[in-house]
Amino acid sequence: MDNPNLCGICGKPAAVRLDNPQRRLCADHFMKDAEERVFKAIDAENLINDGDRVLVGLSGGKDSTALILILSEYVKSHPDVKLIAVTIDEGIAEYREDTIKAAERLVEHTGVEHKVISFTELFGDTLDRLVADRKNLACSICGVLRRRSLTEAARRYSADRIATGHNLDDEAQSVLMNMLRGDRPSLIQDTSLGYEGHFVPRIKPLAVLSEKEIVTYIMLKGFYTPLPECPYATTALRMDARKIIGILEEKYPGTKLNIVKFRNGIREHVPCMPKGKPGTCRICGELTSGDVCMVCKVLNRDR
Ligand SMILES: [Zn+2]
Ligand SMILES: [Zn+2]
Repeated sequence: MDNPNLCGICGKPAAVRLDNPQRRLCADHFMKDAEERVFKAIDAENLINDGDRVLVGLSGGKDSTALILILSEYVKSHPDVKLIAVTIDEGIAEYREDTIKAAERLVEHTGVEHKVISFTELFGDTLDRLVADRKNLACSICGVLRRRSLTEAARRYSADRIATGHNLDDEAQSVLMNMLRGDRPSLIQDTSLGYEGHFVPRIKPLAVLSEKEIVTYIMLKGFYTPLPECPYATTALRMDARKIIGILEEKYPGTKLNIVKFRNGIREHVPCMPKGKPGTCRICGELTSGDVCMVCKVLNRDR
């Protein structure tokens, strides 16, 4: 019965062994298991409601590839939910061209409507030029601008939700990074909720799957494409957090999940919504808790 080389459900040759719980599954049952775990999270946390228009951030990388494939399966049993894939073209030479091609192949396969929005169109220039004299800040500047781009896209295409491909590893790393920075507000504040009636909620349906499971899933689906690393991807703290959590997970399976559960537990007990009604940025008019929004700050519009 307990043959280590066979699927624990159907007895076919096992393709993968899940770390937690210790289960072996054939390719078909692994894909089904991954999809069902995401569907369960969507339903348990009401991430998507019938009739929603869900904007899916599709960079073409591994996480968003898994996200569009799994959500395309989800809408088969939820035909009232509409997906719109949006690729943000930041303007990063010798990087974005390949991933946009990968994204196009995916939308062709899934039949999801696809839009591309560029930093040049929204912010007047490519990321490469915007950060030319401050390359060390490129990653965080890009993050701020991408976030605004998705908000703008959600407005343009009347989306009710913005879905991003953050996985369990990303989430666990963020918790540890916030702790290491002593950044309690970021740890506690659930920015996905935003301000009631003012903000499109952000959802992370893949937060129940580890990076390893995501890579396995897209490989089994036949959509794994080795892509170039983003030339700016050098957040040192995240790399260290990744290493440390990797060591702990290896020794104590379930660590990643427990880190995220721990944070979610804190969020349930501590008020996490931003206080009061948001104000508007005096330069661009977007919602912000301060006088000038982050986008205007990183674009130096306030100087
Ligand atoms: Zn099986
Ligand atoms: Zn602004």
